[in-house]
Amino acid sequence: MTETVTNWAGNITFAAGELHRPDSLEALRSLVAKSERVRVLGSGHSFNEIAEPGGDGVLLSLDALAGEVEVDTAARTVRVGGGVRYAELARRVHEHGLALANMASLPHISVAGSVATGTHGSGIRNGPLAAAVREVEIVTADGSTVVIGRGDRRFGGAVTSLGALGVVTALVLDLEPGYEVEQHVFTELPLEGLDFETVAGAAYSVSLFTDWGAPGFRQVWVKRRTDEPLADFPWATPAVRALHPVPGMPAINCTEQFGAPGPWHERLPHFRAEFTPSSGNELQSEYLLPRGHAVEALHAIDGIRQTVAPVLQTCEVRTVAADEQWLSPSYGRDTVAFHFTWIEDTAAVLPVVRAVETALDPFGPRPHWGKVFQLPADVVRGRYARAGDFTALARVLDPAGKFTNAFVRDVLEG
Ligand SMILES: Cc1cc2nc3c(=O)[nH]c(=O)nc-3n(C[C@H](O)[C@H](O)[C@H](O)COP(=O)(O)OP(=O)(O)OC[C@H]3O[C@@H](n4cnc5c(N)ncnc54)[C@H](O)[C@@H]3O)c2cc1C
Repeated sequence: MTETVTNWAGNITFAAGELHRPDSLEALRSLVAKSERVRVLGSGHSFNEIAEPGGDGVLLSLDALAGEVEVDTAARTVRVGGGVRYAELARRVHEHGLALANMASLPHISVAGSVATGTHGSGIRNGPLAAAVREVEIVTADGSTVVIGRGDRRFGGAVTSLGALGVVTALVLDLEPGYEVEQHVFTELPLEGLDFETVAGAAYSVSLFTDWGAPGFRQVWVKRRTDEPLADFPWATPAVRALHPVPGMPAINCTEQFGAPGPWHERLPHFRAEFTPSSGNELQSEYLLPRGHAVEALHAIDGIRQTVAPVLQTCEVRTVAADEQWLSPSYGRDTVAFHFTWIEDTAAVLPVVRAVETALDPFGPRPHWGKVFQLPADVVRGRYARAGDFTALARVLDPAGKFTNAFVRDVLEG
């Protein structure tokens, strides 16, 4: 019987032969070994077909497995199960007085699914979330487990793997001593004369938001670690009320603002963990390009803002430090990320996505793997110098292509 499952945004319905929720590692191994095609569904927060097994393939959810979170305080590491979400992970890590280096805007996304797609937060010194991973455990095509750690020559392909190597059953992440963050929100930062490097580097994590209704930014969210100096932010005006990144939306579900110090996991995400959005009325796209081109690229989008604004809810500009995962959109280059939260009308949004890709083309953008993009597969592949190494690794770990799907095949093999 064919099962249908929709993603969080509701814009993708996956065709799958069967949906399985194994409740033990043994059940998972035997299911993988006997199935011809398998994909794992994480928390379903991607906006494209990346998780789809296709046709009669098996879609596997790890929801029924025990949500392992094992903190090693002496080693400052945490071992986290393949189905665990950041909200739960962060809560448990915080209980031990430890912290992750960074988080994405929403804590409800799964750890394995996030690092598989190169998910990131912001900060010129912060790599993507995958940069915290030191070891990954993967159940491969024959049902056996492979453990790949930093120092292994396969590691560069093992974390941001688009789910193409096998089922990630556990990850070991680096932790650091717990820290506090203050969140200050400013309004009306002009584009004209913008010193992007200084603004983006003004605090631990900085996000710029605009609706492109006019040049410049409606909001700037400045997240300062309280163990780092307080820099002035003279370029914009402090907000007088709590703000949501989407103009007009109530800020009730946003993390606390006005500089109130709080634990790292209650300030780095934009949205509170206790607010659980079951589905979203939006689509998202994001393009990552070398940070040195930030200002030119902002002017390029400003040049098409009359096309962009009508289908846009908000655009967020963040930074990501270069990392070493072969398929990471920030691989090998300090990055600026242009994120677009669109209205949920796919037909109206796709031509605008193409217009954004054309405007950003001179800067060689890499699309976020989990979001909507239209760039041809060969163009995307051409932006990853190590794509061939990844494909070779996938062939070794998964010789029959059990874990591949149309999305992965298109991008990696053409
Ligand atoms: C509201 C919202 C906010 C977001 N904010 C950010 C943000 O701040 N920064 C950012 O970069 N992105 C952001 N994203 C995008 C999101 O982080 C990615 O799409 C991410 O992949 C979602 O994780 P998931 O578990 O829901 O993945 P899914 O969509 O379920 O899966 C993504 C991929 O991971 C694979 N996968 C998942 N679990 C496993 C596993 N255990 N083993 C093997 N493969 C696995 C799947 O097969 C698939 O290929 C946001 C998305 C939403 C909806």
